[in-house]
Amino acid sequence: MKAAAIIVSGGSGSRMGRPKQFLPLAGSTVAEWSLKCFDSMAEIQSIVLVLGEDALKEHGKRLAVGKVKVVAAGPTRMGSVKNGFAALPKGIEVVAVHDGARSMITPEIVRATIAQAAKSGAAIAAVPVKDTLKVVEKGNVSETPERARFWSAQTPQTYKYSVLKEALEKFKDEASATDESQLVERCGHKVAVVESSYENFKITTPEDMTMAEAIIAARSGGRRESRTGFGYDIHKLVAGRELWLAGVKLKHDKGLLGHSDGDAVLHASCDAVLGALGLGEIGIAFPPSDPKFKGLASKDIVAHTLGKVKGAGGEIVHLDATLIAEEPKLKPHYEKLKSSLAALFGLPESRVSLKAKSNEGLDAIGRGEAIACHAVATVLSAFHTGT
Ligand code: MG
Repeated sequence: MKAAAIIVSGGSGSRMGRPKQFLPLAGSTVAEWSLKCFDSMAEIQSIVLVLGEDALKEHGKRLAVGKVKVVAAGPTRMGSVKNGFAALPKGIEVVAVHDGARSMITPEIVRATIAQAAKSGAAIAAVPVKDTLKVVEKGNVSETPERARFWSAQTPQTYKYSVLKEALEKFKDEASATDESQLVERCGHKVAVVESSYENFKITTPEDMTMAEAIIAARSGGRRESRTGFGYDIHKLVAGRELWLAGVKLKHDKGLLGHSDGDAVLHASCDAVLGALGLGEIGIAFPPSDPKFKGLASKDIVAHTLGKVKGAGGEIVHLDATLIAEEPKLKPHYEKLKSSLAALFGLPESRVSLKAKSNEGLDAIGRGEAIACHAVATVLSAFHTGT
């Protein structure tokens, strides 16, 4: 069964004062926790993330990696789902539509809706309503319906491709529907209910953030904590080499000598991240003595390091790098270097800092014979391996 997901994160989030999808949540963001769940599932072949205009500009490029495609939101929720649907690759048989703000989604719930939709055409995650419901008219209760009849609809709402296609085409001018299920129902299809979890709530108000943080902490045994790692690197500055810093090739008549491209910012940053995880340093995985690593691109070292972070179930919360260089002058390049560093580590720029100092003419760095870099990384993880 070829399955795909559409994650809708295009809302304006008026109840939070600003769009909630990229509010920081447990070392990552609201939408990225949702994305992470689907990304971790091998059976999901493709993910279309639907983002509002500002989020698309700020986070689109960073998140469009691997099986994730990023598209622009429509004017309504239904418009966003249609945009997401149009971007699905060919051959998809089942589509799970998910609210990006339901960050606490689990692979088990997604799987249950996929299995049911594959069987019967349409299945939504839902939970029985806990409160007694009242129908209120002009400030007074006019009716108390029987509670057992009511369920709260969640997402994912999962459909056979043909079923969702039919609903989106038949009601293509529909603007007010708050979920796809109601359109599928109006087409005459049966929509099965898969009992989900109360943890799969939609983050809507500020107190929901507190609950979401608590749930993430509880899921990692309540032991999620932040640790700090430090990294340092220095390379000789010599003629006849390209100058690579933070993954950017800078125009200069000298470059850093090394077995790899000599990118001291990336090496120090990776060592800082590995330091926070308690996993040594980059020379262990990439020994300079091994000829097969000659000419290694430092972005491969970053990819290796990010694999270690993922393997530990961690998040990089912040990265701060300080270059020490007499030449070239790096201030004019701060923005470019910072953007590149953030992009390579998959972080929003707000979680990255990059600056440079001269060595006041002292020592080898002061004589322009070398460039060094110090980096500090903060990583949030359950740290199951240690105490
Ligand atoms: Mg190095």
